[in-house]
This record gives sequence, structure tokens and C-alpha cells, in this order.
Amino acid sequence: MTENIHWYINKRIERTINNFKKHNIQAFYVENEASLKEKIKELIPEKSVVTAGDSMTLFQTGIINMMREGNYIFLDKHKEGITSQEKKQIYIDSFSADTYLSSTNALTEDGQLYNIDGNGSRVAPMIYGPKQVIIVAGINKIVRDLEEAEKRVRNYAAPLDAKRLGKNTPCTKVGYCMDCKSSDRICNYFTVINSQFSNRIKVIIVGKELGY
Ligand code: SF4
Repeated sequence: MTENIHWYINKRIERTINNFKKHNIQAFYVENEASLKEKIKELIPEKSVVTAGDSMTLFQTGIINMMREGNYIFLDKHKEGITSQEKKQIYIDSFSADTYLSSTNALTEDGQLYNIDGNGSRVAPMIYGPKQVIIVAGINKIVRDLEEAEKRVRNYAAPLDAKRLGKNTPCTKVGYCMDCKSSDRICNYFTVINSQFSNRIKVIIVGKELGY
């Protein structure tokens, strides 16, 4: 990365973190996976109950494994052989967890979180329930504003996610959103987290491209 690009990205991160603060959302920057794990250790008390939403970022950075192997009561909805009933129970239990881990589809430079969800199980506990919510996102998820966030998600993140999930939707054929009416549609809930009463939601920006 050239010095100027590095400067540009740093300015963008700085702006985003400052604007999250104005929305009463604490945001941190960490350079890589190792410092991310240190930050997570600092934020999540051992022996506490942790759940996590669907997230490539959490797998890629090793956070899911850290929860599996660490001294946490991790309700693991991705564990091998899990039944749909057990998974459903974890969705419900997420609301009373001590910490809910997730990524986000986009974070805006003006300090908001933007997400699209299929059944709501990822965005609902972000908004209400768990004592603490930790959002982990790479620098590739930073966008200027909500308009750019929606474009990013509809034309990039959602088609890729639909592809990953093997959905029979137009976007998995053409590679962009056609605002389908398909029964396989994954874009059902569009949420904006603008601010909060308490210090419940925290954002960690990792200085890498992660997830999509
Ligand atoms: S609305 Fe339909 S076509 Fe558009 S991204 Fe979502 S699933 Fe794909």
C-alpha cells in the first residue's frame, strides 16, 4: 500500500470512528487479526455467554474458533450436525446472551450501521437483547453514506451471499440485485442502526479487507 493510499484510508477510518462516537457508538480500530483478538479478549469476559451471527469476517479472522476454543460459553450455531431445532433455540437464546458477535453489511462514514437480513435472526439481536453487541468489520465495508450502503449491499454483498447460500434468485444468475419477488429472496429486512441509549453496541474496524 503506498503512503498516500494509507493516509487516505486512515483519514476515512478516523472520520468513521469519530462519527460513531457522535452517535453514542464506541468504535475502535485494530490493524490485524492478532490485535483484533486482543481487543475481543478485553471486551468479552471469560465464562460469559456468547453467540454469533452469520459472518464470513468472524470465520476469516479466527474469532469463531477463538470462541470455540476459549473459556467462553459459546452457543455455536455453526457446529457440525446441529439440527434446525437447536439452531432456532440459539437464535432465541441470543437475546439473553452476554455478548452477541456479528459483522455488518456496511458502516457509513457518518457513523451508522446498515444491514440486510433474510429472516431477521442477525439484525434482531443487534438491535435488542444481548447485553453487549460487538460488530467486527474490515475497511472494505466502509461507505460514505446510507445511499452508498444500500448500493453496496444490493449490488455486491447480497448477490454474493445469495450465491453462498445456493439461493435460486435472479442475482445469483446475473450478479446484481433485480429486486426479486422470489421465495428464496434473502433481502427482507433493511435496517439502519443510527444511535443507541447505552454503550451496548461497539464496532471494531480491522485494517484489512474482510468478508463481503
Ligand atoms: S432482492 Fe433478490 S435479486 Fe436482489 S439481492 Fe436480494 S435476493 Fe438477490
